Formats: sequence, structure tokens, C-alpha cells
Amino acid sequence: MERIKITCTACRNQCEIEVEYEEGEVIEVTGNGCMRGMARAQQTVNELDS
Ligand code: SF4
Repeated sequence: MERIKITCTACRNQCEIEVEYEEGEVIEVTGNGCMRGMARAQQTVNELDS
């Protein structure tokens, strides 16, 4: 399992989000203030996996 930290820039809150993932699948997302952060997490993992 991999773990990364990203900063969501989708709004001014700029949440620090921790993402756990494995083989391109997001397992857990913490620190996101809303669902857009979840989408950012999956998008980032997809980009890392491609
Ligand atoms: S997770 Fe939601 S609240 Fe946090 S920075 Fe992203 S858009 Fe804003």
C-alpha cells in the first residue's frame, strides 16, 4: 500500500489530504473537507498510475 499527501486546490481551504492507495485504487482518504477532495485524490492516483 502506498501513501501520499496532496494539497487540494479546488477551493480556498486548500485541505491537506492523505491518500492511501494500492494498484491504482484509492483505499482511504483523510483530511478532505468535501467530496471534491475525494475526486482530487482519485485523479492524482490515476495520474500516478498511468
Ligand atoms: S477538499 Fe473540499 S474543502 Fe478542501 S480544499 Fe478541496 S474543495 Fe476545498
